[in-house]
Amino acid sequence: MATVEVMKGLGPDVRTIKLNGHVGFDSLPDQLVNKHVAQGFSFNIMCIGETGLGKSTLIETLFNQRFEFTPSSHEVPQVKLKPHTYDLKEGSVKLKLTIIETSGFGDQVNKEDSSKPIIDYINQQFENFLQEELKIKRSLHTYHDTRVHVCLYFIAPTGHSLKSIDMVTMKKLDSRVNIIPVIAKSDTITKPELQRFKTRIQNEIANNDIHIYQFPTDDETVSEQNSIMKNLVPFAVVGSSDEITYPWGAVLVDSEAHCDFVRLREAMLRVNMDDLRERTHAMHYEHYRRQRLAEMGFSDEDKLSLQEMYEKRRETHQAELQRKEEEMRQMFVVRVKEKEQELKKAEGDLQTKFEAVKKQHADEKRKLEEKRQGLDEEIAEFQRRKTAADNRNNLASGTSFTLSKSKKK
Ligand code: GDP
Repeated sequence: MATVEVMKGLGPDVRTIKLNGHVGFDSLPDQLVNKHVAQGFSFNIMCIGETGLGKSTLIETLFNQRFEFTPSSHEVPQVKLKPHTYDLKEGSVKLKLTIIETSGFGDQVNKEDSSKPIIDYINQQFENFLQEELKIKRSLHTYHDTRVHVCLYFIAPTGHSLKSIDMVTMKKLDSRVNIIPVIAKSDTITKPELQRFKTRIQNEIANNDIHIYQFPTDDETVSEQNSIMKNLVPFAVVGSSDEITYPWGAVLVDSEAHCDFVRLREAMLRVNMDDLRERTHAMHYEHYRRQRLAEMGFSDEDKLSLQEMYEKRRETHQAELQRKEEEMRQMFVVRVKEKEQELKKAEGDLQTKFEAVKKQHADEKRKLEEKRQGLDEEIAEFQRRKTAADNRNNLASGTSFTLSKSKKK
């Protein structure tokens, strides 16, 4: 028989039952572990930093593995993201590891655009996951999750301060991905210099309100380790498995006394890999998902079923369509009226022109008529004068003839 207790604060229906014997669901954690181990994990690391800072070398050193990355040149026209996926196995645990290289970062004249391809890439992986979630037949268990779980941000070992491109890029990315900043090639500056550089970077990150990844300290199994890690950020790393000799001594990558490489490996892969994956899902992806669903018209406030939501969206869409149709009709009427007026004006102009030409023509005709009349009168006058002259001539010749005849007699 089980004893029954009502737990306060959990609502009237929640009861705690003390079990009298072993039931067996305490093996749930083992079941979960076995399931996940069988499925394998995916872990995706993005490396951002200028070409030649040792990104590829560090990744190879981290995983103790040659990955055959293609060296990139400083002349690429824009930042390019190149993901490489590898299937790794350690013990019985399978890991699908994706390394995303960002070639050409910081090499362009216009450095403003450097972060855009990176943001687009991160968003695209969120979008792919969202589309899979929204499918009617979704298969999230077998889905290859390509969301970026961590971004290793490589800072050049200048010893001065963060470059503006670093601050701008980190700020733009901090709500989308877990950022872990590292000081690249830290063997090229001396220890005191390095410490000063670290402090300055920590201050700049805090002053510019850049939210880098916070190692969780609420879980007591990792809180002590993570508190130490927290103080080491940005990790000063050296990416080479060989011992390097400098005027100030030899540097061993695996020696903690010389660099934070081992701590970084521990922090990222051994202690917090699951937290990085979890935060990516619960914070960064959630943020993206919420925005996208709001864009698609979904909202929690409406409390509507999917069908009602669809109907509502359809109605809004129809109303919008009708409004646009009416707007276009009105526009058409206005345009027709305008055209009509234009045509009327053109007709009026033409009529006025026609009247003017007609009048001009009539005037000319009248003038010609008057001229013709004048000429007719002149001809008549001429004829009249000619006849009179002829008559006069005839009369004169008749008189002389009679005269000569009478003389002969
Ligand atoms: P990436 O372009 O950022 O991937 O840089 P690479 O990993 O190709 O490294 C560029 C050059 O820097 C290579 O010649 C490496 O051997 C060298 N390098 C890489 N890591 C380190 C380091 O931690 N310290 C020093 N001194 N040289 C390094």
